[in-house]
Amino acid sequence: MATCEVCGNDYWMAFEVRTVNGATHTFDSFECAIQKMAPICEHCQTKIVGHGVEVSGRFFCCAHCARAVEGAQGAEVRDAVGARPA
Ligand SMILES: [Zn+2]
Ligand SMILES: [Zn+2]
Repeated sequence: MATCEVCGNDYWMAFEVRTVNGATHTFDSFECAIQKMAPICEHCQTKIVGHGVEVSGRFFCCAHCARAVEGAQGAEVRDAVGARPA
């Protein structure tokens, strides 16, 4: 049994997520893991649950948000989903 560090639920199927710096976090659900660990888009403040994009060390939920904030570098970012073939 392990206790979720977000909601405190002691759950037999709790799981661990290990970060790049070696820290380990325990959650009872993906929802709680997202609450604690998902990066937040610097343009629209939504939690980034999918791949998102990173430009100059800043995280965005999609190419549109990266373009809105990052100017020239952001303009090079393209979402694969929803991209209309040329
Ligand atoms: Zn939880
Ligand atoms: Zn966004």
